[in-house]
Amino acid sequence: MNKGEVMYEGKAKIMYATDEPDKVLVYFKDDATAANGEKHGVIQDKGIINNKISEYFFKLLKSNGINSHFIEVVSDREMVVKLLRMISLEVVVRNVAAGSLAKRLGLEEGTPLKVPVLEYFYKSDELGDPMLNRYHIMAIDIARVHELDEIEHIAFCVNTILKDNLRSKNIDLIDFKLEFGRDDKDKIVLADEISPDNCRFWDMATHEKLDKDRFRHDMGGVEEAYKEMLTRLTM
Ligand code: 5GP
Repeated sequence: MNKGEVMYEGKAKIMYATDEPDKVLVYFKDDATAANGEKHGVIQDKGIINNKISEYFFKLLKSNGINSHFIEVVSDREMVVKLLRMISLEVVVRNVAAGSLAKRLGLEEGTPLKVPVLEYFYKSDELGDPMLNRYHIMAIDIARVHELDEIEHIAFCVNTILKDNLRSKNIDLIDFKLEFGRDDKDKIVLADEISPDNCRFWDMATHEKLDKDRFRHDMGGVEEAYKEMLTRLTM
């Protein structure tokens, strides 16, 4: 497979066309941003680690019946994925109050939620990714109701599968963000990545943060946390 033109460059990844029209090559960068792009930095080897961790989770999901865009890893920082038409939504699932939910509802970080919470955010840098509900999404034609049903079904399945797997590695899955696209048959398919960039992982015993919050809040030990996650998942 040959790497073609850059199709899209985001904050953490570059998507390249390939000589196979239904496949895209994703390159994972070490660049990190936070606070709606206001904070920039580099997390050494993050691209390598996120490529490996995403591969681990996409394979885990596949073995549990959840398909994603993932096809194969082709180098340290690159995976080949299915070309999808992306839906401009961030789908967040939460098990424990943290981050923006803790702030919005005045809850102490770490407060367990009685049921998992699913939230939608509109992917728009211009608007600062505002929160949406199903009515907004249908009203501005981002997705249709049967697609949202499918997205929610997949998101909650992902939650159960990841939570159970992580528990066996002494990690609590606090929350995570997923993205979805439509394939050539308009089927909803899980996309993007699953890594410490877009999940909150806490050590079960100590509640030590093993994710991007260490970068967001200048806590130090960022590289070590990403490495620790990879080690726990794959050793
Ligand atoms: P919060 O809304 O609390 O900031 O984030 C909830 C979860 O979604 C966290 O696991 C966070 O990592 C993830 N998340 C939310 N927005 C983004 C985003 O724009 N980029 C990335 N990489 N993750 C996000």
